[in-house]
Amino acid sequence: MFDLRRADLHLHTRCSDGLLTPAELIDRACEAGLYCVAITDHDTIEGLAEAEQAAARRGMVVVPGVELSVQVDDEEVHLLGYFFDPAHPALNEALKAYQEARVQRFEAMLERLQEAGVSLAADQVRATVGYGVPGRPHVAQALVAAGYATSYTEAFQRYLLPDGPGYVPKPAWTAAEAVAILHEAGGIAVLAHPGEHLRDRVFRVLLEAGLDGVEVIHPSHSYYLVQHYRQVARDFGLLETGGSDYHGHRARDDALLGTYTIPYPRVERLRQTLRVRSA
Ligand code: MN
Ligand code: MN
Ligand code: MN
Repeated sequence: MFDLRRADLHLHTRCSDGLLTPAELIDRACEAGLYCVAITDHDTIEGLAEAEQAAARRGMVVVPGVELSVQVDDEEVHLLGYFFDPAHPALNEALKAYQEARVQRFEAMLERLQEAGVSLAADQVRATVGYGVPGRPHVAQALVAAGYATSYTEAFQRYLLPDGPGYVPKPAWTAAEAVAILHEAGGIAVLAHPGEHLRDRVFRVLLEAGLDGVEVIHPSHSYYLVQHYRQVARDFGLLETGGSDYHGHRARDDALLGTYTIPYPRVERLRQTLRVRSA
């Protein structure tokens, strides 16, 4: 018989920049007909335990996941990690250090703004964040609320772009660090949504770092790009993954759930590939 169960391996919760709690997200995924999901919050795996509990009640499967922000030259790319051991000490330490660097970056942004005559209280900004560490979007919202800008876009343009008075670069992993920590924790590293502008040099750096797969199915990929990355995966011996990148608060998000999926048997094959490798 055919196994028609579907998997979405790219979803966000309130633990990073999504809207829903992990349990709420599992409920929505279930309603959308999904059998398997990966929660891939940015640089944190905090939502995993709650998602697993909620999924167990519904007979669904959760794959451990994360989306890491990686810097290659002057470009930020995202790497999805899957199937790692969520309790792995080195992985947890690395994620914790990353979150601490984000707290420092947030404090540095407020200091720089202060020097430019813009005073925002840290608590005022934190109040706009569900969980996690505030980033530029939250600072932009607070700037609008405090009357320093009339819109979110203006706040970004006047204060938060690279040449602006409140700009502090976001901490980022190198490709080698990110892939190594995922491998060390027993997982795989997958290039997220490569899109139309993947540079050869960036791809080469990722391959040299030990990239395992490429996200082929993604809302930003046209039919042509899906075919293209499917071929890239074949040519370079990479695994194929896919998902919706659902955040819960963007215009098209509700239509995404259940639409950008891969067959569940492919998830099982990914898992087996890992077993073979570690054997
Ligand atoms: Mn996001
Ligand atoms: Mn991303
Ligand atoms: Mn994402």
